[in-house]
Order: sequence, then C-alpha cells, then structure tokens
Amino acid sequence: MSTVHRNTKQKEAILRILKGTTSHPTADCIYEQVRREIPNISLGTVYRNLRLLKQEGNILELSLAGSFSRFDANTKNHYHFRCELCGRIFDLDEPVDKEIDKRVARKTGFTVTQHRLEFRGLCIDCQRSDSPESLKKYLGLT
Ligand SMILES: [Zn+2]
Ligand SMILES: [Zn+2]
Repeated sequence: MSTVHRNTKQKEAILRILKGTTSHPTADCIYEQVRREIPNISLGTVYRNLRLLKQEGNILELSLAGSFSRFDANTKNHYHFRCELCGRIFDLDEPVDKEIDKRVARKTGFTVTQHRLEFRGLCIDCQRSDSPESLKKYLGLT
C-alpha cells in the first residue's frame, strides 16, 4: 500500500472514531480504539493525524492548561460542561448566545468571530458517587 493511501486510511479511522462518540476523548483514548482497527499504528501517528484534522477544520481541540487535550468532531460552536471530579466533558444542549459576540465587539471595537464557553462542576454520576471520599475532597470537606 502506498504511504498516501495508508495515511488517508489512518486519518479516516481516527475521524470516524471521533464522529462516533460524544465523550471528547483524549489522544490516548483514541489511540486505544484505533489500534483495534490498525494494530501497528503508533501514538505519534495518532497525534499527527489529530493535528492535521484540526488544521483542516474537521475536529476541535479542547485544550486547557494542566490537562490533556480532548478532541471533538462536532465543529459547530457548542457549549461544554466539564466535571471537575471525573474530568469528563459533556455537550450542552444550550443555544450559543450570539449577543455576547456583538456586545463585546461593540465595547472593544474588536472583530469577534466566536466565543467558547465551558461550564464546570459535578456531573450526575459524581453527585451520586459511591466514593464519598473523593466527593468530600472535591467539596473541600476533608
Ligand atoms: Zn463526574
Ligand atoms: Zn463537544
């Protein structure tokens, strides 16, 4: 198989995995899944393809200082909720407020193309967690 063909196949597999999930997986997590399909793929190749997919505008990288990047094949602007205990990221069914863009543009004179918003707190599972220790720690009760 030619290099170009192989690269396309790897990239397509990664994109397909991302499109099939709303869990905003990390590169490691994507690597684990794509390996079932392409056993000899390397983590470096996964990173390279994620970078390419991002440059092409096919995926979003949700990066945050001090944590691993998460990837999202939903490139339409949407809001996220990040659980501070388990680290999972959920899509929110909440309309994107275009008025904020206009307001900021009016106040600053900047050209605003979009805004990103991430809510924080505890997901349902963690609220019901059978691990009260980590919950107490999160709430600062220990
Ligand atoms: Zn959680
Ligand atoms: Zn998302």
